[in-house]
Amino acid sequence: MITGREPVSVNAAVEAAAEHLERRPLLVVSDFDGTLSKIVNDPWGASIIPLGRRALRALAGMPDVHVVVLSGRTSRDVASRVRVGGVTYVGNHGMERAFLPRGARPESLVADVDDASHEAIHAAERMGVEMPRLIDEPWFIVEPKPPSVAFHWRAAPDIDAASARVMAAVDQLDPDCVLERFQGRRVLELRPPGAVAKGEAFERLVSELAPRSVFMLGDDVSDAMAFTELRRFRAAGVTDGIAVAVQARAEVPERVLEAADIVLASPVDATRFLAALARRLSPVRTLA
Ligand SMILES: [Mg+2]
Repeated sequence: MITGREPVSVNAAVEAAAEHLERRPLLVVSDFDGTLSKIVNDPWGASIIPLGRRALRALAGMPDVHVVVLSGRTSRDVASRVRVGGVTYVGNHGMERAFLPRGARPESLVADVDDASHEAIHAAERMGVEMPRLIDEPWFIVEPKPPSVAFHWRAAPDIDAASARVMAAVDQLDPDCVLERFQGRRVLELRPPGAVAKGEAFERLVSELAPRSVFMLGDDVSDAMAFTELRRFRAAGVTDGIAVAVQARAEVPERVLEAADIVLASPVDATRFLAALARRLSPVRTLA
C-alpha cells in the first residue's frame, strides 16, 4: 500500500489497486464534485469529465461490479450530470438513494428519501427563502434539497469573509440550531438533526452489498468520513479496499488527505484511474 499525502501517478495508483480487481463483488464508490468533475465557480455548471462517464459505464456493465455515485447533490441532480445507467445514485450525503436502470432517463429518477421531522423540513425551506434576503450577492447560491438546504460561495471574491457572513446569517435565522450545520469546501449544509452523512451511507452500502473489495474516491471532509469507515472495515476484516483522495485545487483539507490511502492530483487523474481499472478488468475493451 502506498501511503503519504503527496499525489501519486495514475500508474502507481493502478498498481496499488491491482490486487483488488480480481475480487468479487467489487464496489466502486465515487463522489461527484471535485472528483468526477472539476470544481467550477457555479455549482449548477458542474459537468462530468467525459472519460469518467465512459469509465463508469464500462465498470457498471461488468458482472459483480457495483458502481455507486455518492454525492451531496440530490440523486436526480447528480444522475442527470453523470448519465450512466446501471448505477446507484446516493444523494444528499446518503439521505437519498435511487438506482438508474440502463436506458432509463435520469430526469425521471425518483429517489427514496429518509424521513425527517416536519419542523426540520420547514426550517430548511424557510432558510432557503430567507438567506438570500440577508446575503444579496451574486456569489451566494442556494441549493434546496429537502429535507436539507445548502449554501454555496464558490465564486466569492473573499472566501473567508463570505464564509463568516454565511455563518452569521445562519446564526441570525436559526439561533436555536434546529438544523445541523455541516461545512464543506465553500459550502455550508443545513441538515435535519441526525441526518445520515457519507460515512454512514458508505457503511450501509458495504453491509448490503458485502463487497470483497471497495474503491472509494472523494475530495472533501464528507468523503473522509467514508475513508475512515473503509479503514475501519479493513482493520476488522469486513472488506478490503482503497480510499482515494482527489486533489482539486490546492485547498483539499489536510484531514481528507490523511484519511486516504492514496492521493491523486486532480479529477482528470481520478477519471484516468477509473478508466484504467475498467481496462484492466476488461482487456478486450478499449477506453480512450
Ligand atoms: Mg466533492
